[in-house]
Amino acid sequence: MSEGMKLPRFSVGVGDRFGHQAKAQLAACILAAKQGVDVIPVWNKSNREHMIIGSEPSKTREAADAAVKALGWTRPYFVDADHINLKTVDRFLAPCDFFTLDVAEQIGQAAKPEDVAAFVSRHPELVGTVTIPRLDATFKTDEAFVGGVANKFLAAVQHAGAIYRLLVEKKGAGRFVPEISMDETDLPQTPIELLIILAMIADEKIPIQTIAPKFTGRFNKGVDYVGDVAQFAKEFNEDLAAIAFAVERYGLPENLKLSVHSGSDKFSIYQAIHEAVERFGAGVHLKTAGTTWLEELIGLAEADGAGLAIAKEVYAEAYAHSKELCAPYATVIDIDATKLPLPKDVDGWTSAQFTSALRHDQENPEYNQSFRQLLHVGFKVAAKMGPRYLQALEANEAIVARNVTSNLFDRHIKPVFLGR
Ligand SMILES: [Zn+2]
Repeated sequence: MSEGMKLPRFSVGVGDRFGHQAKAQLAACILAAKQGVDVIPVWNKSNREHMIIGSEPSKTREAADAAVKALGWTRPYFVDADHINLKTVDRFLAPCDFFTLDVAEQIGQAAKPEDVAAFVSRHPELVGTVTIPRLDATFKTDEAFVGGVANKFLAAVQHAGAIYRLLVEKKGAGRFVPEISMDETDLPQTPIELLIILAMIADEKIPIQTIAPKFTGRFNKGVDYVGDVAQFAKEFNEDLAAIAFAVERYGLPENLKLSVHSGSDKFSIYQAIHEAVERFGAGVHLKTAGTTWLEELIGLAEADGAGLAIAKEVYAEAYAHSKELCAPYATVIDIDATKLPLPKDVDGWTSAQFTSALRHDQENPEYNQSFRQLLHVGFKVAAKMGPRYLQALEANEAIVARNVTSNLFDRHIKPVFLGR
């Protein structure tokens, strides 16, 4: 499959809700480069975030370009139209060169029986005992199983094909990096399902460079992984083996890699990811987003005075509107309402109390993950403040930037890409 524009081996998705942290985020990639590891920044912002904030994808592009220019970054970088579909892709076409084709909605929609039958008969290698090089275990399947997987995912892959072909028509083949995302769905995909899905994607002639499956366990927004780390590690290794097999066997792009839509801050699985990637010589894309917005709030709170007052106001409003703010994220947050402090109490907090509750430091007994998750989805409150919030960011640029950069570098890039 033709490739053209190519995503390097290691890349990090850096969401920037308000388009003010691109420089601070890029600074984290520069720190990695100084330690000898190229981690390429991809500025991702989903259609959902643009809708909630009322922003335009062209602004994400402007912020990324400006940061790259200001800091003299000479390596590649990308702007990701994150979680788009046929209905929402239009305004992302010009500013983006990375497209995350979201087909979660189509998963489980029955495909045409003749298409399913054709897929199964085209792929005898997927039926019986499937041996994947570099994997100790083998997968056992039969026609009914492969047909069942095809029935569940083929319509979704065909939908991805339709978006991909539209992109080729509008932008030209090889002029963008395509990713397919299946993470925002109910059930995780097993490694054998991933392999079968990759065969469908190859048949559909979509030269994806990243794929975002839903992994086992819970990936709640902005907080640590909840699940069986050993099981995650096992499946992550199996996924890498499935990808290597699919690249070889189906001619998918050789740089095809997993995209971990982490919801940020999945510290307990970062070591497993690093080790598996090293073991396979594979690449990985780590998509973060909201973690940066929370660092903005931490920076403001740390600044004390008017900054802390704004952070408290965001919390009070988020608390008052928690139902509507949480609704779009229902499947990816677990807030214990009894653990949420009352706004009138938070009002009396010092700067250190606020940052201790919010900063993702699991060693700190004051850390409160319900507080953190509510603020994670509370960016709509800051969006409503409009220029007042943005002016606060600008007035406290240095202290906010320091938090954004060190969070991204120390807590995410280091463990995943540098392995320390
Ligand atoms: Zn995602």
